[in-house]
Amino acid sequence: MNPSGLWVWHFGLPPRATDALGRALGWPGQGLLAAAATTSPCPGAQDGCRPVRLADRRWRCPDCGAWWSVAQVARFAAVARYDQPVGVDVEDGRHRPGAYRRASDWIRGQIRTDEQWTQAEALWKAAGWGQRRPVPGEIPLGDAWRCGWQSSLDDRWWVFTAATPNPWSLALPRTGPQPPALNVVRQAWPVRSAGAPSGRRLRPGLPGSDDQLDPVGAGIIEGK
Ligand SMILES: [Zn+2]
Repeated sequence: MNPSGLWVWHFGLPPRATDALGRALGWPGQGLLAAAATTSPCPGAQDGCRPVRLADRRWRCPDCGAWWSVAQVARFAAVARYDQPVGVDVEDGRHRPGAYRRASDWIRGQIRTDEQWTQAEALWKAAGWGQRRPVPGEIPLGDAWRCGWQSSLDDRWWVFTAATPNPWSLALPRTGPQPPALNVVRQAWPVRSAGAPSGRRLRPGLPGSDDQLDPVGAGIIEGK
């Protein structure tokens, strides 16, 4: 795979064991991030990227400078990699009017869907403000949203949103007139072994996605 560019890994997560009280145990976000990063060729390291967490809660590879982000819900997780700061968020599609109402204060409009929620959170994470709560109106998103690419209200961010397999979004700085090509890798978790995980190409048709995958490289593509 091309070691640069915008990449998103989708992990389908199997049902997780429960603790002694019957509560579902969470999947380790850091492990998901590491699993994706080891498949990403890194000019500075033999075993792929090794992102570390910065003080602002963003992830960055100290060897090549790539930016990373991870998000998960019960059965689905996403990891994003880009040459500039990037934020990714996923939700499980539940309708949560109370949470939407509270989060509506952060944008310049009303949050009515999980997709909008993921847009706000992805942008918040990309900006590196994840260690605090937004002040009212601070997130430059409005009522108008759609699947695919769109610009933030202040034209400083690109936001990509999709409704499948779960509502998810990513956000990154807007540095040109066109958003970057988006490469998506679907993967089952746990990966079978480090360096040779099972992966398959996402079917074409994801809005705005170029689905560009290079089968040469880290061996992440099989069963096309
Ligand atoms: Zn790296």
